[in-house]
Amino acid sequence: MSLQNALMDKVNSVRTRLHLGQAQTCSDELRLCLEQCKPDDPERLELLVLRCEALADIPAAAEELLTVAQDLAHEAGRRGLKGSLAAAHCHRSTAYRRLGLRSEASQQAVEALRLAHEAGDQALQSRALLCSAWQPIDTGDFAEARRLIGESLACAEADGQPTTIFWPLNNIAHLLGVEAAALAADGENDTARARVIELVNVVERSLTLARAAGHPLQEAFALSNLADAYIVEGDSARARELIAAYADIARHIGYSRLQAYAEMDEVRLLRASGRAEEAIAVLMSPALADYLEGNKDIDRTRLQALYELHKSLGRFELALAYHEQLANMQAVMLSDQAARMQRVLLARLDLEQAQAAAERARLETHSERLRAQALERERDQHRRDSLHDPLTGLANRRAAEEQWDGHADRAAREGQWFFAAVIDIDHFKRVNDTYGHAKGDAVLTETARVMHGLLRRRDGLYRLGGEEFLALMADPSPSAGLAACERLRIGVASLDWSSVATGLSITVSIGVACRHEAESQSSLLSRADAALYAAKRGGRDRCVEG
Ligand code: GH3
Ligand code: MG
Ligand code: MG
Repeated sequence: MSLQNALMDKVNSVRTRLHLGQAQTCSDELRLCLEQCKPDDPERLELLVLRCEALADIPAAAEELLTVAQDLAHEAGRRGLKGSLAAAHCHRSTAYRRLGLRSEASQQAVEALRLAHEAGDQALQSRALLCSAWQPIDTGDFAEARRLIGESLACAEADGQPTTIFWPLNNIAHLLGVEAAALAADGENDTARARVIELVNVVERSLTLARAAGHPLQEAFALSNLADAYIVEGDSARARELIAAYADIARHIGYSRLQAYAEMDEVRLLRASGRAEEAIAVLMSPALADYLEGNKDIDRTRLQALYELHKSLGRFELALAYHEQLANMQAVMLSDQAARMQRVLLARLDLEQAQAAAERARLETHSERLRAQALERERDQHRRDSLHDPLTGLANRRAAEEQWDGHADRAAREGQWFFAAVIDIDHFKRVNDTYGHAKGDAVLTETARVMHGLLRRRDGLYRLGGEEFLALMADPSPSAGLAACERLRIGVASLDWSSVATGLSITVSIGVACRHEAESQSSLLSRADAALYAAKRGGRDRCVEG
């Protein structure tokens, strides 16, 4: 069997056994599997999810749950899985609550709800809402707790899975049981009774779901809730039947916490009917000691009951001894709690500092890159500026010098003739003198625009300076240079310049030269210049070939 298949078999087996309440063995096996996993094994996520599920069922393993949920969050975040990330936050919420860090627990529940909502996962939203409900439960705000659990139930119903719907029903039932007991203790029997009736209805539904899903642990929970109803009602016969039923399931699947609950329920029944000695016998039984397995919460209830029972029987010395045990135990629990909180907070501080350092490093790299990019852009801009004429938008003399060889070489490669034409606006000084410098600028810009439009895309047009331009052109025909210059000259002369200034007309003179083989830049340019000079002398508004 391949390692992959072996892992998948393990995952399936663990999933079944978690239904049977075998959290501790499942957690141990999963820990071993995870130790064998490589960091990017695809199964890692599923193993972490299951390990969290297992640890969530072991109240004493809160610190471990927090660590594993942290790993799960990391893994889910890395893979961009919002659903699994939401589940990780639910587990962290549970862990924090068990560690007594309530505000952290609430924050995690809120984050879980947000992510579950974004992932569009109703089952996870239901679960996150259950986590949110613990805060009001712990502070005794039953109405708010009911509201949140009600919302959780609505999400679970939208999801439709029986095992998902079970948990909010279970929590409502538990809450109703606690409320009913508190009301009955205050003598509010009518209201207590109303809660009991509601409780019975809720449990009937959850019991049906658990049985339909074949989920023995859920069935046992439902039965224990129902037993609560009959204990409050004082119907010991029915209560005993139910306690026996859920204790039976608990024994069958080896779920000792529920077995301990069954013993404690029996004690409640015995006390309610005044059978103090028998209640003490149950509290002192070796069976209960076995089931406790170090569960301090149940043990505390046990010591409290022993103290109250002995006091009611007038055995004050024994009562005092149990009271002292209780006080000692509470002191130890408090200092354990404080130590755990400190450990968790310090670990979190370390983590946050590491994350902050990583974030700072990331930002520094990022800003380094931005700075380099800005510098590069600045350099580009600088380069563009140094090669461009800002007034006309044309490339300038420097660009012409740089690009000259490129134009000439390409023409040679393609077997074409290469031409340089120097273009000079006629009597430009007069334009400035008559219409002002700004109009002169407009004439320069407009002349550049018109000529640029008359040239082909691959030809180059440059402003050499003042009112002097250079065109670099290539053509298969040696007479094409002059023809192209004529096009430019006529284009400028025939333009309607009245939009720049009324009565304005502009002409250019052009000197053009065709490159001899291997002729240098300066030689070709001075021949074109000479031709321009000839054009000026010849009366301007004309093209001369050099
Ligand atoms: P010619 O026909 O012989 O070329 O006469 P011209 O007046 O065009 O030639 P000249 O060289 O005497 O005058 C050029 C003028 O161009 C002088 C200068 O003030 C003006 N000039 C140079 N650069 C600019 C500019 O950027 N804007 C404006 N408005 N005028 C400029
Ligand atoms: Mg001029
Ligand atoms: Mg000039």
